[in-house]
Amino acid sequence: MTKKIAVLPGDGIGKEIVAEAVKLIKALQADGLDVSMEEGLVGGSAYDVTGSPLPEATLKLAREADAVLLGAVGGYKWESLDISLRPEKGLLGLRKELGLFANLRPAILYPQLADASTLKPEVVSGLNIMIVRELTGGIYFGQPRGVRTLENGERQGYNTLVYSESEIKRITEVAFDIARKRGKKVCSVDKANVLECTELWRNVVNECHKGNSDIELSHMYVDNAAMQLVRAPKQFDVMVTTNMFGDILSDCAAMLTGSIGMLPSASLNEKGQGMYEPIHGSAPDIAGKNIANPLATLLSVAMMLRYSLDEAAMADRIEKAVEKVLDQGLRTADIWSTGMKKVSTTEMGDAVVAAL
Ligand code: NAD
Repeated sequence: MTKKIAVLPGDGIGKEIVAEAVKLIKALQADGLDVSMEEGLVGGSAYDVTGSPLPEATLKLAREADAVLLGAVGGYKWESLDISLRPEKGLLGLRKELGLFANLRPAILYPQLADASTLKPEVVSGLNIMIVRELTGGIYFGQPRGVRTLENGERQGYNTLVYSESEIKRITEVAFDIARKRGKKVCSVDKANVLECTELWRNVVNECHKGNSDIELSHMYVDNAAMQLVRAPKQFDVMVTTNMFGDILSDCAAMLTGSIGMLPSASLNEKGQGMYEPIHGSAPDIAGKNIANPLATLLSVAMMLRYSLDEAAMADRIEKAVEKVLDQGLRTADIWSTGMKKVSTTEMGDAVVAAL
């Protein structure tokens, strides 16, 4: 049956990079990929037209799709709007409404780009980590929360770190499944020596491991994990962790690669439906100039094929095509270095399609 992709370019460079992804998907359609695409508005562009950053029509389109391809949202123009109307609300609304509890963020450093990292090339070259972050629970959502005034007149801020067994179990199972398709190693990150909630996390992860004993499991405290990520990042295959720890560690891992324009991401729900997007934002400083790097978005299409559309062979083809254009020395401005050929957004998209 034809699978449906909801295409939401969003704002800024979102429109330019998603246009390249659409070009790529059309090339794969010509090669037999059975998908349909429908475009919707999200973020500031949606607000301008409808008065909402997440119009009902977009939500309906996303709910009915097998996968959502998102560009990026945000921009200077909408910064003074009330927080409930800001472009970012469109993104958070999609995550919430679709129940996207598993955030998958690979940090891959192509050997061709080893110089882009601030770390020594031998430490990061060939790096390939998958961070699996719990996305809909933990301290970012826990109740009670707020700022109260104590009897002595002093203000006190408080948040609650809370995870139920089922929430821990479902994210851990996602991590084991992904590890099975990669290096078969999972490192669970917690702070079980201090926080009871993550002591439960560790116990539940161990219980889940009983049904996944083909995967090598280790545990690490989050402070050590942060240190190990910059000391010897290649020791990791899949890392699984809570919402807040994952938020912080995945940005750290992304920056090991030095190139924000190269990294895709996926957010999945229990039905395997997913939203796929580059990790970067709408880059208003370079929007409309045809210089943005579209590779993170093209690699997000590869993740979409692998995790929501059951087309792993086509995903492999995209990833190999990206490597091929890097081997050919083609670089957008953000990853360019002396001796390489500087290309525009559209030229990079064309080159990947040609390399397919
Ligand atoms: P950003 O990721 O948009 O840009 C950071 C820097 O990286 C900029 O210098 C930009 O030019 C560069 N950059 C980003 N993507 C690039 C690409 N593909 N190719 C080349 N260079 C690239 O982050 P920011 O500047 O902090 O935020 C800009 C806007 O994006 C804000 O409104 C923010 O809220 C929004 N934002 C959205 C998302 C999202 O949609 N998922 C994520 C982060 C930020």
